[in-house]
Amino acid sequence: MKTFETLESSVRSYIRDFPAVFTKASGHFIFDEDNNCYIDFFAGAGVLNYGHNNPRLKKVLIDYVSADGILHSLDMATAAKRDFLQAFDSLILKPRGLDYRLQFPGPTGTNAVEAALKLARKVTGRHLVIGFTNGFHGMTLGSLAVTGNGSKRGGAGVPLSHTLHMPFCGYHGDGVDTLTVFERYLADSGSGIDLPAAVIVETVQGEGGINVGSVAWLQKLEQLCRRHDILLIVDDIQMGCGRTGPFFSFEAAGLKPDIICLSKSIGAIGLPMALTLMAPHLDHWAPGEHNGTFRGNNAAFVVAAEALRAYWADDAFEKETLRKGQLVRAALERIARDNPDRIGQVRGRGLIQGMVFTVDGMAETVARAAFAAGVIIETSGPKSEVLKVMPPLTIDDQTLSEGLQTLARVIAKVQSPKQSKAA
Ligand SMILES: *Cc1c(COP(=O)(O)O)cnc(C)c1O
Repeated sequence: MKTFETLESSVRSYIRDFPAVFTKASGHFIFDEDNNCYIDFFAGAGVLNYGHNNPRLKKVLIDYVSADGILHSLDMATAAKRDFLQAFDSLILKPRGLDYRLQFPGPTGTNAVEAALKLARKVTGRHLVIGFTNGFHGMTLGSLAVTGNGSKRGGAGVPLSHTLHMPFCGYHGDGVDTLTVFERYLADSGSGIDLPAAVIVETVQGEGGINVGSVAWLQKLEQLCRRHDILLIVDDIQMGCGRTGPFFSFEAAGLKPDIICLSKSIGAIGLPMALTLMAPHLDHWAPGEHNGTFRGNNAAFVVAAEALRAYWADDAFEKETLRKGQLVRAALERIARDNPDRIGQVRGRGLIQGMVFTVDGMAETVARAAFAAGVIIETSGPKSEVLKVMPPLTIDDQTLSEGLQTLARVIAKVQSPKQSKAA
């Protein structure tokens, strides 16, 4: 750890939560240099939906590199990119009745969001973009301006402007329709709110506390956008690629977003890749108007296309994710029932489920204790109050239940900060 402490910037963060030096990973297991094995309930924040070093994906990567396949190509035409485009169209878009053009922005999630915001403003000629409380969209200035987290926003160093945050689903507690304020603002020319170019939303807020946008709420949001000619951007960077069950997380609500952002698991084996999908009539870009050096990560295209063929040719993978999600949900609800003094709500969709701790600091204490007991798990939410269970979707039932049993054991043992002070 000394090397990291002296040579790496203090901005490093996950290293502080998981203080080990990692060397290898396979499927849902990660190993450190002391040969400790950890069950991965974190999945690289949603990058590793298909597991670490997935054998089928690893093979196409090795074969491609061995054959001197082109690795970098800016945005020139390559056979690897053509193969990915065709696979995405035939396996993802067509079967869902969706029609989008694909833009390859820079290779990170925030690149996909920046491209989406820029395009929405260009197409509509408007400047304002609506984000939601506790939304997370990335760290560059445009994406940060629609992100909720105060400490992240504080890092910007300049005012974050041309955006406004509305309350996400459930923000005012159960039974309050949080869209009524936005709806009224839009209908009233005296509201002081300019007509927005776009709304950007996550269907489930991955970083903001596993807040779930209900189907009814998401549908109402889409209708509001349609009524006022506002573009709907779904940031599916963390919840897409099957995390909630279907390939796109908005399928449950039947949305047809104008623009969709994908990254994280689209590269399938941990290679950086991002996509901005736009309805064809919105493709107003001039050639090269938005570009980036690393838009042609062909190794990622090859693996991404193979992942689509491996997991999305039928609905078996989706069904398995939903089944495993129910196992996790049931286990967390049991744990919550056993610990009513410390755990409130259990929430999530598919194979992303969270437990809300009602005692300050406790979710983080549990995550640290879980790591010591061999489970890598992170927290989420403005006060890190939600323990976030997000294993690779390919995890087997036995390891899943082992990891969940470890969590139950750890939670039973961990004392709340107050209790331990009193003791
Ligand atoms: C991770 C994430 C981003 C940002 O992706 P980076 O690759 O870190 O830039 C944006 N939106 C959501 C929903 C994310 O989870």
